[in-house]
Amino acid sequence: MRNLVKGLLLCLATAPVLALASDTSGHAEHGAHVHGEAQLMLATDGDLLEIMLQSPAANLLGFEQKPATEAQQSAWQQQQALLKSGQWLQLPAIAQCVLQQQQLEDPWAKAGQHADISISLSYQCKAAELLNEVTFTLFSQAADLQQIDVQWVSGGQQGAATLSTKQPVLQLPGTE
Ligand SMILES: [Zn+2]
Repeated sequence: MRNLVKGLLLCLATAPVLALASDTSGHAEHGAHVHGEAQLMLATDGDLLEIMLQSPAANLLGFEQKPATEAQQSAWQQQQALLKSGQWLQLPAIAQCVLQQQQLEDPWAKAGQHADISISLSYQCKAAELLNEVTFTLFSQAADLQQIDVQWVSGGQQGAATLSTKQPVLQLPGTE
């Protein structure tokens, strides 16, 4: 997998847009673990689209300890299937993006009171230039998710956005 998102992070580390994002909210450093909030990075390069979501497990599962009961196991199984399917976001059909790879990290690999869920999706798009918005249905699929802080690089531009239940649509420039 070409790692666009890692490239994006390096790129944003020196970019003014990131400074702005962290100034306004005070606690929006990348990787900050704030219940109710998630971070998302999106990058396109040619016909490739990569999306990485990092969220406290509590937002998506309602709990953060390693699943112990059958109900928790089943909730985790369901959430894994959802995250890997990519059916927590909607891409414009006209862009003809096909999910190629997904990578879900073990939230409980590190010991601690809190756990983060990290999922990466890689798409190949026939018409990536028509990728002008992404709608996140995750807000209605994850009861305790209120906000997604997005950083993106697409169409030779970059930016940041804060999405919420009321504003679940990320606008992108497209490259047309
Ligand atoms: Zn937590």
